[in-house]
Amino acid sequence: MPHPAASRQDSEAIRMDSLGKTSASRPPGQNGNANTEIPGNSGDSNTGLHKRSIYEQNGVAVCSQKRALCIATVVFAILFAVSLIIAFAGPQNDCPCAGEKPANLEAEDEGDDGGPFATNGEVFPWNNVRLPTFAHPTRYNITIHPNLTTLEVKGQVTIEFYVDKETNFIVFHSKNLTINEKMIQDRKGHRLKISQLLEYPKHQQLYLELEESKFRKRGNYTVHLRFTSKLGNELEGFYLSSYVTADGDKRHLATTHFEPTYARSAFPCFDEPQFKAKFKMSIFRDRFHIALCNMPVVNTEDAGFYMGTGLLRDDFQESVEMSTYLVAFVVCDYKRVTEMTSRNVSVSVYAPEAMLPQAQFAVKTAAKIMDYFEGYFGIHYPLPKQDLIAIPDFAAGAMENWGLITYRETSILYDPEETSTAAHQWVAIVVAHELAHQWFGNLVTMKWWNDLWLNEGVASFLEHKGVDHVAPEWGMMNQFILDKTQSALHLDALASSHPISVPVKDPSEIEAIFDTISYNKGAAILYMLEEFLLEEVMKKGLNDYLNTHKYGNADTNDLWAVFTKHANHSFDVKSIMDTWTQQMGFPLITISREGNTILATQKRLLLSPRENDTDLLTPKSPFDYKWYVPLSYYTNLQPRVTTNVWMNLTDVSFEVPPAVEWIKVNVNQTGFYRVNYSEDMWTSIITTLHNNHTVFTPADRASLIDDAFTLCRAGILNATIPLKLSLYLLNERDFVPWSTAIEHLESWSKMMSETAGFKKYIAFMKTLLGPVTAYVGLNDTGSYSTRLLRSNVLEAALIANIEGVVKPAKLLFKNWMEKGTRIPPNLRDLVYAAGIKYGGEKDWNYCWNMYKKTQIPSEKVILLKALGQSMDPWILQRFLLASLDREEIRPQDVEPVIAVVAHNPEGQFLAWRHLKAYWPRFQTMFGNGTFTLSGFITVVTSTFCTEYDLQEVSEYFKKVEVGSGQRALEQSLETIRLNIHWVKENAETINQWLHNYLKIDKS
Ligand SMILES: [Zn+2]
Repeated sequence: MPHPAASRQDSEAIRMDSLGKTSASRPPGQNGNANTEIPGNSGDSNTGLHKRSIYEQNGVAVCSQKRALCIATVVFAILFAVSLIIAFAGPQNDCPCAGEKPANLEAEDEGDDGGPFATNGEVFPWNNVRLPTFAHPTRYNITIHPNLTTLEVKGQVTIEFYVDKETNFIVFHSKNLTINEKMIQDRKGHRLKISQLLEYPKHQQLYLELEESKFRKRGNYTVHLRFTSKLGNELEGFYLSSYVTADGDKRHLATTHFEPTYARSAFPCFDEPQFKAKFKMSIFRDRFHIALCNMPVVNTEDAGFYMGTGLLRDDFQESVEMSTYLVAFVVCDYKRVTEMTSRNVSVSVYAPEAMLPQAQFAVKTAAKIMDYFEGYFGIHYPLPKQDLIAIPDFAAGAMENWGLITYRETSILYDPEETSTAAHQWVAIVVAHELAHQWFGNLVTMKWWNDLWLNEGVASFLEHKGVDHVAPEWGMMNQFILDKTQSALHLDALASSHPISVPVKDPSEIEAIFDTISYNKGAAILYMLEEFLLEEVMKKGLNDYLNTHKYGNADTNDLWAVFTKHANHSFDVKSIMDTWTQQMGFPLITISREGNTILATQKRLLLSPRENDTDLLTPKSPFDYKWYVPLSYYTNLQPRVTTNVWMNLTDVSFEVPPAVEWIKVNVNQTGFYRVNYSEDMWTSIITTLHNNHTVFTPADRASLIDDAFTLCRAGILNATIPLKLSLYLLNERDFVPWSTAIEHLESWSKMMSETAGFKKYIAFMKTLLGPVTAYVGLNDTGSYSTRLLRSNVLEAALIANIEGVVKPAKLLFKNWMEKGTRIPPNLRDLVYAAGIKYGGEKDWNYCWNMYKKTQIPSEKVILLKALGQSMDPWILQRFLLASLDREEIRPQDVEPVIAVVAHNPEGQFLAWRHLKAYWPRFQTMFGNGTFTLSGFITVVTSTFCTEYDLQEVSEYFKKVEVGSGQRALEQSLETIRLNIHWVKENAETINQWLHNYLKIDKS
């Protein structure tokens, strides 16, 4: 899946490849760095530490061979002992192995009552949320008939499996399914008697036990199950969605979303990613529908003969070996557009007929990117077809189901006349992201969800490369730091962050790690890795990894191993990268100078106010919060020549020529760290920015802004530094630094909103934005990056209430409403927002009706955002209430509604009240396990900045269940505390500085 949050927008070309690179100091893995001890491949003193946390994570999936053998022996011994007792004592207990505690599992649920209990009140004998590892499914035959009118689903599944030890039971998954028939057969078709089938809903498991016989070691069996269920309305499992045609006709479709743990609610299965099997589907459908699945249809039969219903049955080709979470099927009345890849693989986009013209861009882009990834990975796409489909109700941005990728409408549909540049780019990014998964994730899958970052980090890293290939003029790689690095650095500086590799067990823990850390930090550290490995090594490594593990599973160490191999062992990639994946946070590199010697020290950066230095070392990390840092820098003497120095878990010092006036560290923000300089070094950087900012690349300017503002937030840098630095923006005309700056300037504006200096601060923002606003103007013309810059800057200008922008925007709105004058797509954000903000009920109603009517998904998004800009609390309240009605606003758009109201100063507290009032309802609407709840907490509360609000938030959430939103809540509380502290420490300094500045500015 791509990260559910919408993307940042973007930029102009920095010729990164034109920067000459020289290496001054050796990396870990090469011998002889004067400064530091190097962890080579032998004699690594840290190895023990590295391994420990891996093995601790998941007893079942990654236990060592020895341990597994030992466990198997114990289990066997217990089973044998139990069988003896049963044989002699007779069946006094209905469940012969009740009380047997499988030896490889720690007790989880056993309370005073001796649980866990199955639905029939009996003890459920398997007490682990993970499945036993001895049963292996090899093939599923699934027949399913969804009735889109009654919502009833009838299904039948046959699972072929083998066991690799003798046992009398198997355990697999099922959630909210009613099992009506069950049968077990051996290889020869003999039926084995089933003594019981127990269900334990808490772990979503079924336990099936044989009466007399046993499953023999290495024996092959089949389990047949007939079941019924209902099409859900939560956006997971097998669920119902709908759309309204241009004529107002409502059409239904049934679709699936299984990642991470929802396949089990569509059919009984071994629903863990390492249990790969082949899938053969048959689907019953009406004649006016089509059925789609991972594989193409091979046969369609008239099922009316024996069903008496006029139904058809589509039989699909058997799949390759794959994980359950990648299975997908859809029944709908869509049409398609098709393109061929250069190897003649058919690529189609399916959408409602009226939207089909908007699918042209995606289908062409997808075919080209398929070609690109086949070349990049060096492996042919293994399925006969690739379908992409637009799903109206969809929680994530998209889902990489193998051969049938599902997308939210805004992630795939694009209209050149109506869609903005940023939304256009978003479609390309999501298309590329899901296609990257077809190899990385689908062909080779993580062993367990603790390595989710492997899937998501790599896809998030490669999506930019895929788009860069089809649209080099977009300068995608320049936007990488905006989209990935900066957002990850922002979150990862909180004490409530988490390491990339994190132990997870139950579904809500798994759901919770689909977050910025897995996606964006994952992508950012791979970007850093590519910088020192170089692209060719990275490519060769990925190719090797995919070939070695294809149709199987792998873990993070497998990836590091191929990179080390293809870098000819000049780097010990695992040792380096473990410091980035197994501990949370990242280093702050502090640069100081003594004569001609530069000293770089490293220390974990935490934003939260700290009592003392030991706070920086808690919770405990296997590396004591030290990193292998590939430090890159250049100086005023050769601003286009990068030098690299390694910090191998330590500080480092190096010499520079006497004529060096300034040094810029972390070239183009490719490293996942922040940099602070001594005050005089900051001063010379700022002077240079003011005199000729283009000495630094746009990415470097962005990184200076990002670091200066963030270090002020952390209480490390005086507010006057970012203030003085930001004055150079008067001359800045590039998208990347401006986008970074606007993010920080708006965040300051929120925190300043209740302080004495607020009006002065807004005046300052106006001053900064003045020249660039005049530069971009209000005509939707120019290069790709100019357009992105324009919409970014104009939106900020509206917040700062710049008259030269607000007035013409209001006029454009009036002409659109009254005369139907077309507004260029990139100005719509601004114009609709201005119209609603300064308009009344009539204007709001007009936009609301347009929102309801339009068949352009990207237009819906802009209108929805604008509708929350009203300054009338009554209107905002109406808007919030509408979001509770699924007929009015789609489930995935509820969070954007609440977010836009919460970010509106008039609506902030309304949104909070709304969240509290309807929290239980949100839990039912979205499910306690989904990432939607996390989003709600974050968007509503994280801009609060008073003690009172802090109390409110923390008290409220003590009383209710938070589900998978727990970490988001901790992060929000920490952010509020941080905001309070920042205001206390900085508001007056800023007020004073602005007072003096504005006086000079006016005179
Ligand atoms: Zn993904």
